[in-house]
Amino acid sequence: MTGEKVDTKAEQQSDVLVIGAGAAGMMCAVEAGRRGRQVVLLEQAAKPGRKIRISGGGRCNFTNTNTAPDRFLSQNPRFCISALSRYQPEDFIRWVESAGIAYHEKTLGQLFCDGSAEQIVSLLTEACHAVGAQILTGVTVSAVTRGEVGFQVTTAEGVWRADRVVVACGGPSIPKMGSSRLGYRIAEAFDLKLIEPRAALVPFTFGDQLGTEFADLSGLSCDVRVRCRGAEFREAMLFTHRGLSGPAMLQISSYWQPGDCLEIDLLPSDEVESRMNEARQTLGKKTVEHILGGLLPKRLAKRICSELSLQSRVADLSRGDLQRLSERVHRWQIKPGGTEGMRTAEVTLGGVETRQISPTTMEVKSVPGLYFIGEVLDVTGHLGGYNFQWAWASGYACGQVV
Ligand SMILES: Cc1cc2nc3c(=O)[nH]c(=O)nc-3n(C[C@H](O)[C@H](O)[C@H](O)COP(=O)(O)OP(=O)(O)OC[C@H]3O[C@@H](n4cnc5c(N)ncnc54)[C@H](O)[C@@H]3O)c2cc1C
Repeated sequence: MTGEKVDTKAEQQSDVLVIGAGAAGMMCAVEAGRRGRQVVLLEQAAKPGRKIRISGGGRCNFTNTNTAPDRFLSQNPRFCISALSRYQPEDFIRWVESAGIAYHEKTLGQLFCDGSAEQIVSLLTEACHAVGAQILTGVTVSAVTRGEVGFQVTTAEGVWRADRVVVACGGPSIPKMGSSRLGYRIAEAFDLKLIEPRAALVPFTFGDQLGTEFADLSGLSCDVRVRCRGAEFREAMLFTHRGLSGPAMLQISSYWQPGDCLEIDLLPSDEVESRMNEARQTLGKKTVEHILGGLLPKRLAKRICSELSLQSRVADLSRGDLQRLSERVHRWQIKPGGTEGMRTAEVTLGGVETRQISPTTMEVKSVPGLYFIGEVLDVTGHLGGYNFQWAWASGYACGQVV
């Protein structure tokens, strides 16, 4: 089932209304439906699971076997523990396997479909169908208010009433995907606090001057270790025509604040000083650029040598030159101009403040019957399948009680 059109302006009723048929919303609907609850999902897009379809380069990195609470950012770091412990990567993997979906580990515990992300969407929509949870597409929710009994949910197609409302409409990252701030508006309407939402897992931009300086390195990739604000990641970095991208940069962007410098080790698996000293013994007539080009991508080596005016032979390197080279290679300090922002951010950092939400049920403590799950909450995973694991786990927790 890929969704049904709603064709009436009349008032309609359901036990449970889920706003948003994304990862968290569909998981919650399946679980609530299994318990015999009558569930309706209201989805603004023409098809459910839009972000799942484009995730993981079309192969959906659906979980990470290294899932642990320390892979998530939140102003309330303990909030995610309960839900993550009750629905673990193995639980989702078992479901994927039982549906015959082939998958593989790419790196660092990241599991991807061998085929297509569509398989994960089908897994969820078929499970919704099997438990009788209805997915209504093309329905944009504009507000949730308290009714005489339960809640009233306003859409352009009419008003819905429900005893329980689950807000699963994600965050505002990638607005062209139809992402919305509805979840935040609902939270504010019920006097809930928000942690300022901002773009995360997003490429850096250089700003005009640095952009021109590094334009010649565009397309070049290397393994790096990057540090900022006490966080550290060892993954690939990519120079783009606008700035820095690749997994290492996306990861650290969740920690970076405007004005911060990044400290990048361009050669984390080796020691440039000792390699130059070795080369001095046997390859003294070779240039520094030649030796460095054996350790780093050649264009980058050339760039560093020209920046530091190291056109000499290795044999002629002074102690001071070696130190400058080591500093530039292992502790490169760079201040990005900014990030590409929500336009390309994979997730939104911040969101509904979680101290107001029950960590076991996802219910708003001050508003019985109202629930928030998934990315709309102030829980943001590292890159690598953690954000879907949070969507599954929070959806599962809510689906047990709603
Ligand atoms: C390009 C890209 C690639 C990604 N790849 C991965 C990956 O491989 N692994 C990973 O773990 N995470 C990945 N993510 C992050 C992941 O997609 C999200 O964290 C996850 O989808 C959040 O699930 P959710 O259900 O909370 O929100 P969403 O999946 O965003 O679902 C929210 C749903 O609510 C609907 N909605 C919004 N407003 C309204 C409204 N007013 N009325 C009705 N419906 C509404 C939306 O249309 C949407 O279908 C990726 C994100 C992007 C953008």
